[in-house]
Amino acid sequence: MALIVKKFGGSSVKDAEHVMNVAGIIVDEYKKGNDVIVVVSAQGDTTDDLIEKAVEINPSTPLKREMDMLLTAGEQISIALLAMAIDKLGCPVISLLGWQAGFSTDSHHGKARIKKINTERMKTELSKGNIIIVAGFQGLNKYDDLTTLGRGGSDTSAVAIAAAMSADRCQIYTDVDGVYTADPRKVKGAVKMDEVQYDEMLEMATLGAQVLNNRSVEMAKKYNVELEVLSSLERKPGTIVKEHVKMEKTLIRGVAKDTSVTTISVVGLKDQPGVAFKLFNKLAQYKVNVDIILQSVGRHGTKDITFTVSHEQQDDAVKAMESMKGVFEYQDLKVNNSFSKISIVGAGMESNPGVASKMFEALYDADINIHMISTSETKISVLIDTELADKAVQAVHDAFIG
Ligand code: ADP
Ligand code: ASP
Ligand code: MG
Repeated sequence: MALIVKKFGGSSVKDAEHVMNVAGIIVDEYKKGNDVIVVVSAQGDTTDDLIEKAVEINPSTPLKREMDMLLTAGEQISIALLAMAIDKLGCPVISLLGWQAGFSTDSHHGKARIKKINTERMKTELSKGNIIIVAGFQGLNKYDDLTTLGRGGSDTSAVAIAAAMSADRCQIYTDVDGVYTADPRKVKGAVKMDEVQYDEMLEMATLGAQVLNNRSVEMAKKYNVELEVLSSLERKPGTIVKEHVKMEKTLIRGVAKDTSVTTISVVGLKDQPGVAFKLFNKLAQYKVNVDIILQSVGRHGTKDITFTVSHEQQDDAVKAMESMKGVFEYQDLKVNNSFSKISIVGAGMESNPGVASKMFEALYDADINIHMISTSETKISVLIDTELADKAVQAVHDAFIG
């Protein structure tokens, strides 16, 4: 007998028919004699719809604790419905909210980190023969307040359970049949990968390939949890994410797009030591994750610093910069959220100088202007206008993967 963790995303449970389909997959696994723990997301666009409701009440700063109170409700609905569906198919089942399944997190509402999972309740329910359905994306902090793990966090809930319970398999079911070289819904010629390494997948996920949440990949690597990404609609093998994969000939593994990019330019800063430190220290205090950083050459005693953050963190970043007034001077703050980041991912970028020029040539041929560039050993990213993002991904994918 094996212990299998299965996670189903929102699109896999979007309506009654899909919930029954998922229940069928779970029951088949259970009837093989295996223990099954399921993590499920909110149905379809429920989380987005709930966010809309909050924005109607307060467009700028809804209370973060109350946002979590609201958003956790989405997963509460889907666990109950899925448990009812499994019961209808005649198997013993129990649904558990995150806290009932033992998820303790820190208090960072909206992007909490899992601190510990107390597995006692899950073990008891398995010993009673129950299939367990756990609400993804949520936990409880030390004040007994509900928290959420950040968008796409149900993937992380599933990996965390697989690690804590030493599961034999962790399967992430979604609406595509695996991980591709680019989003298969958007990019013609995207190729499915049989296997992908943790580090490559982590890079792809961090750079916008939403098929897996990046924290879930980070955790899978840390606890050596092998993942399978597969379709909830077609029963066929998916993509395995693990440490060692068969060597691939290709240098470029994939192309990713992130449309959630805000650039913030702090214009007319004094050109003196300590300015960058104070600025990024303040952003850190506001828990803002900064991605690309660009500093202009100093001129006439002033300089500009431009950095990028996700749309989610734009308000916090602006607040952090406004709070700097009086600490040090700057002339203007420019905010732009109409850029997207296009990245190519692969090993050994820096030792292959031709790669960058090939990427820039593909964008030039497609008449796409580049606003910012950032490179590392494993990726090259460019910032371009969001309205050209899909065209850019296709052009770059055509150039490298064909
Ligand atoms: P779920 O609701 O199951 O969590 P998501 O919408 O979060 O599903 O993730 C699945 C989607 O990720 C797919 O529908 C696909 O459009 C998108 N996607 C983006 N990049 C990739 C990629 N490289 N490979 C596969 N899917 C990708
Ligand atoms: N329901 C949450 C979201 O939409 C969590 C998830 O789907 O993983 O982000
Ligand atoms: Mg997802």
